[in-house]
Amino acid sequence: MSETKEFKAESKRLLEMMINSIYTHKEIFLRELISNASDAMDKLYFKSMQDNSAEAVTRSDMAITLELDKDARKLTISDNGIGMTAEELENNLGTIAQSGSFAFKKDNEKAEDVDIIGQFGVGFYSAFMVAKRVTVISKAFGTDTAFMWQSEGVDGYTVSEAEKDSHGTVITLEIKDNTEDENYDEFLTPYKIKELVKKYSDYIRYPIKMDVEHEKLREGTGTDGKEPEYDKEIVTETLNSQIPIWKKAKSELKDEDYNQFYKDKFYDYTDPLLHIHSKTEGTATYSALLYIPEKAPYDYYSKNFEKGLQLYSSGVMIMEKCADLLPDYFSFVRGLVDSEDLSLNISREMLQHDRQLKIIAKSIEKSIKNELKKLQKNDREKYEKFFETFGTQIKYGIYESYGMNKADLQDLLMFKTSNGGVTTLEEYVSRMKEEQKYIYFASGSSVSRIESLPQTELVRDKGFEILYLTDHVDEFCLQMMHDLDGKEYKSVSADDLGLETEEEKEEIKKEQEDNKDLFDFLTEKLSGKVKAVKLSQRLKNHPVCITSEGALSVEMEKVLSAMPNGEGAKAEKILEINPNHAIFGKLKSLYENDKETAGEYADILYSQALLIEGMPIENPVEFSNKICEIMAK
Ligand code: ADP
Ligand code: MG
Repeated sequence: MSETKEFKAESKRLLEMMINSIYTHKEIFLRELISNASDAMDKLYFKSMQDNSAEAVTRSDMAITLELDKDARKLTISDNGIGMTAEELENNLGTIAQSGSFAFKKDNEKAEDVDIIGQFGVGFYSAFMVAKRVTVISKAFGTDTAFMWQSEGVDGYTVSEAEKDSHGTVITLEIKDNTEDENYDEFLTPYKIKELVKKYSDYIRYPIKMDVEHEKLREGTGTDGKEPEYDKEIVTETLNSQIPIWKKAKSELKDEDYNQFYKDKFYDYTDPLLHIHSKTEGTATYSALLYIPEKAPYDYYSKNFEKGLQLYSSGVMIMEKCADLLPDYFSFVRGLVDSEDLSLNISREMLQHDRQLKIIAKSIEKSIKNELKKLQKNDREKYEKFFETFGTQIKYGIYESYGMNKADLQDLLMFKTSNGGVTTLEEYVSRMKEEQKYIYFASGSSVSRIESLPQTELVRDKGFEILYLTDHVDEFCLQMMHDLDGKEYKSVSADDLGLETEEEKEEIKKEQEDNKDLFDFLTEKLSGKVKAVKLSQRLKNHPVCITSEGALSVEMEKVLSAMPNGEGAKAEKILEINPNHAIFGKLKSLYENDKETAGEYADILYSQALLIEGMPIENPVEFSNKICEIMAK
């Protein structure tokens, strides 16, 4: 036995840190050891190709073997890869070459919740999270002597000669005893081990094998009224499926394959609406398999929902939900990204790493957008279904970025329209009449409500199309977008619709001035409720309507006041009166002869206008009683 050697100082600190659980997912140790075994076999294969080794190494003979011995609390991971010499054992397992992850951890408090090992690879050491002692017996390919490396953690390690027939490495973990908070026993059960292989290492290129005990019905028992009896049978199972679907050629795959994979992997019962399978090379090299679900997940609109894609490094899962890969407005996308650029192995530099991820994220965002646009063009029905389910999210994307994402996202938007059905903005613009200056919109809780709004009269009269905004976020979104290629969005309730001729405007203005006293009186009567009472340019048949001045519309007030702390949001309301309606003449004469009744009429007209807008009125009983009084006259 050789003397016990200490770990290099940095390694020691890192090891301590790890064992003291900076990392909560202890289970990833298995992924790390399996990845190392896979690497060792890759290296051997590569070497044999290079020096044409006589003992031709065939890939098909290579395998990783797992063994469980519950009583001895041992888990063994063996490979027939390249193995390690005594010196390599010492150098590779005794040092952490570059402790980039340690520096990172120290500089970044937030790194607490980062998958340190997965991202920056301190692979082998993770074994100590679950093992009280680790024994590595290894024989390097092409050498005659095997060596054993052994350690119980921070205190150090020993290296000595050992017995082993063929090249490769056998790692034995003596699993820790359970503590009050931690269950280590589970790492000794075939069920858990199988689950971990499936979860993290399913796409390792070499078979991962394990002997599993099965019970087999003994022949002649269990039928004809005989008690069933069982024999124990050991079966060697291959636990991983080895070839990731996303690495296969698209031509090999059918829709059903994609859909089945989606349902298995993401626990959905319904086929996805769309899959996107892409392989990208260049500034970022990665494969991606993305899905747009047909329905929003049940928790999509709750606080618990976490967006993100699974992240793989060369077929090995390193993160279950990488949020940085998806912008919020595409948070409904599920799927995975596999990149060789993201090393599972020990830290290339952190920053570079990060930048790579950003490039991939950008590229993914673009491809989602392109696929959605393709769908919009080629399968309108499907696209409309998609937009009905997830469109709100995209509108929020525009609103929340203060319109900064508009160039990227506005093509994806759809709105209901007075033309029937839904339209894209581009389609709307293509239908605009020559003399039409604006893209008109009207807001309300439903299409039928909007259709009956008096404010739409004038625009409709001109034969111009109106976007019907029925989603809460719609108007906020349009406000942020401001215009489409110079064509401004215009509410049918806006002050100036761009439809009235100068003469018409003059005429109304004069009429308004001629009756200044009346309008001052009405405005005074409704003070605190409306900012002004005015003659309307937009009403043709209806007597009154409510519009607003300023940034906040009546519809926006409705939305905001339904939100917590939103009660203060008030639109600057204008009560508009149709100059051609008999009620205007009536008001004029009442103002001359019976001011009190004129005042009451102002109240009634205001309440009516609110009702038309779908707004609550302050005192329904009083309103109704007043109407009855008039009816009884
Ligand atoms: P990384 O895999 O990121 O290099 P690890 O801590 O996982 O870091 O492993 C350290 C090194 O130990 C590996 O780079 C490799 O050289 C060596 N090693 C670990 N496991 C094996 C194995 N099963 N066979 C051969 N070499 C191994
Ligand atoms: Mg490793």
